[in-house]
Amino acid sequence: MNLRIPGPTPLPPDVLQAVGQQMISHRAVAFEAMFAEVVENCKVFFETEGDLFVMTSSGTGGMETAIVNTLSPGDRVLAVSCGVFGDRFTKIAKAYGADVQALSFPLGQPVDPAAVETTLREDGPFSAVLVTQNETSAGVTNDIETLSRVIHAADPAPLMLVDAISGLGAIRCQADAWGVDVLISGSQKAWMAPPGLAMLSFNDRAWAAYEKARMPRYYFDLGSAKKYGDKHQTPATPNVAALYGLQYSLRRMVDEGLQACAERHQHIGAYCRQGMLDIGMGLFAAEGYYSNTVTAVTLPEGFGSKAVLSKLQSDYDIYCGSSKAPDVEMIRVGHMGYVCERDLDEVFQALAEITG
Ligand SMILES: *Cc1c(COP(=O)(O)O)cnc(C)c1O
Repeated sequence: MNLRIPGPTPLPPDVLQAVGQQMISHRAVAFEAMFAEVVENCKVFFETEGDLFVMTSSGTGGMETAIVNTLSPGDRVLAVSCGVFGDRFTKIAKAYGADVQALSFPLGQPVDPAAVETTLREDGPFSAVLVTQNETSAGVTNDIETLSRVIHAADPAPLMLVDAISGLGAIRCQADAWGVDVLISGSQKAWMAPPGLAMLSFNDRAWAAYEKARMPRYYFDLGSAKKYGDKHQTPATPNVAALYGLQYSLRRMVDEGLQACAERHQHIGAYCRQGMLDIGMGLFAAEGYYSNTVTAVTLPEGFGSKAVLSKLQSDYDIYCGSSKAPDVEMIRVGHMGYVCERDLDEVFQALAEITG
């Protein structure tokens, strides 16, 4: 099977084996050692020396954690979105009673920092800005560094909550250097680990907001996660098997190195785009903002994405992501984590045959 959806992604053999280890007590020393190692190694890729939480939840729970721990009902929030996952962040903030102003960009287009700047100036102040680093639904990567400058220049500067669920580990985002107050990722994306863990950094500005935040929370309360985290434990039973996996995948990633990991994804991203163009496919995302973890591929005239996806599955055992644009025939090909050129060559070959 060639699993080319943008998460969950394939596991390397040693990670697969690690996941099958016997359960241990999550209150025992052996667990604490593993959890401490996982948290420290995550920090390398979040590029933070501050607090980092590894929570048992999918990525969406990480987004919810960011919101409920920093905001109160009625707080003004600027929700910047260029796709399905940006819209999800918006919906979570609304569900908890934030006063949300949406700033949306068409699917395939990046977030325009100038538009964010104008909105902050004309419609501010806002308590927080929600942004997506890598919009998985469109294969678009936003310029978080520039956005962070624009957001921090507002007076008063809102909190910056960034969904980097499908980018981090492969596309750099410097939590400390860029002042990203809460940065969120998910184990099943670029981390080569099973689904079930959300990772999230939380800085001093975020803790100051936490003190005043009145949104309801229990399972996702970071105050309680912090108390247990200081002992290298979690408040409730964690996903031990996924943690085993993440422990091993992080060892691989740390061995490879932060920048080398990013460069490998730049290479595989470019390889995917060129290979698709070579067989007559198109690229959906705006040029200059192509994601290096997932490519949105438009199909030649006359081919429907549903039919192509099901042929890829039935005839080639290849699994790609569906179109998120109702009016565009496209498929999404994941190339994050444990992936090599040959995995993509198989997709090129199959697509060429299907559309040939
Ligand atoms: C996958 C993804 C999510 C949701 O993560 P789940 O683990 O499915 O909850 C959110 N945002 C982005 C950008 C994603 O790629």
